[in-house]
Amino acid sequence: MDCEVRDIIIMGTGPAGYTAAIYTGRANLKPLVIEGFQPGGQLMITTEIENFPGFPEGIRGPELMAKMREQAAKFGAEFKSGSVTEVDLSRSPFCLTLEDGREFFTRSLVIATGANAKWLGIESENRYRGKGVSACATCDGFFFRDCNVFVVGGGDTAMEEALYLTKFASHVTLVHRREEFRASKIMTLRTRKNPKISTMLNEVIDEILGDGQKVTGIRLKNVLTGELAVHPCDGVFLAIGHSPNAQLFKGQLDTDDYGYILTKKSSTETTVPGVFACGDVQDYTYRQAVTAVGTGCMAAVDAERFLESIR
Ligand SMILES: Cc1cc2nc3c(=O)[nH]c(=O)nc-3n(C[C@H](O)[C@H](O)[C@H](O)COP(=O)(O)OP(=O)(O)OC[C@H]3O[C@@H](n4cnc5c(N)ncnc54)[C@H](O)[C@@H]3O)c2cc1C
Repeated sequence: MDCEVRDIIIMGTGPAGYTAAIYTGRANLKPLVIEGFQPGGQLMITTEIENFPGFPEGIRGPELMAKMREQAAKFGAEFKSGSVTEVDLSRSPFCLTLEDGREFFTRSLVIATGANAKWLGIESENRYRGKGVSACATCDGFFFRDCNVFVVGGGDTAMEEALYLTKFASHVTLVHRREEFRASKIMTLRTRKNPKISTMLNEVIDEILGDGQKVTGIRLKNVLTGELAVHPCDGVFLAIGHSPNAQLFKGQLDTDDYGYILTKKSSTETTVPGVFACGDVQDYTYRQAVTAVGTGCMAAVDAERFLESIR
């Protein structure tokens, strides 16, 4: 047990957590940063990032995260490996327990635990991730100029991804496992009106096909007839949802219907004073590195002001 009561603990080392660590480190708050199951966060599994400001040539995800970590360490952030498995936010100081039983106490907490895209769970999807398989059109759409791509999903996100991809791709096919999309009428209408988008209903992905280096096609199975059919394509975008890493806070913090932590308007304050949430774990809408960085900064400033208010 770490008996010292810290001013601030940051959970997560993605762009949001590192940014909160840089700001609170510079404010001399000596942040303790718990790294979690994926040190560096989601960008550790990406190759090139072309939309992060300041890198006109692009930068590899792991390199960007290494730089953020170095910058946080420079300002005195302390890192601890492991994941938080239990939190008690019912009284201050808040208590966090790691998987090996270590306990930490803190007057303020920044939650930057991110979100994970949902994947289909088939082996070929893993093999071609980053080689034609993506879960983020905003991130990767640019790489599919004049390509033929498939988008899997039936909700508003799938419609948005499909519409966005028409800026680059020559053709987009929306694949959905049910008879009807569950997206809003307006979004469904927009996709139907777009001449670059076609739809295939009652179909599920049976296999993603490739030549070892990149995606070359998709094999679909009709759920009504069981019939299999191969369709050549260059890319497959999965838009079947995201899960925010917020299960730990169930019953202690308010979340929306999808499990994202609710924060007050124009702030990172949660429903518990002294607890702040930033990055993808509270962002259903944008889910970008640069927005995670922005809210990471907000959480640091909010936490700093909170600590001043209780001194
Ligand atoms: C394949 C891919 C490509 C992408 N490409 C781009 C791109 O080109 N441009 C762009 O702007 N965005 C891109 N994104 C989106 C971007 O990665 C996310 O928006 C961003 O990483 C969110 O940052 P975050 O700090 O909120 O969370 P994350 O990066 O998800 O980090 C979450 C952190 O929390 C930690 N954690 C989780 N649970 C616990 C716990 N219980 N205890 C302690 N720590 C915990 C994890 O270990 C991790 O360190 C991409 C995402 C993916 C998956």
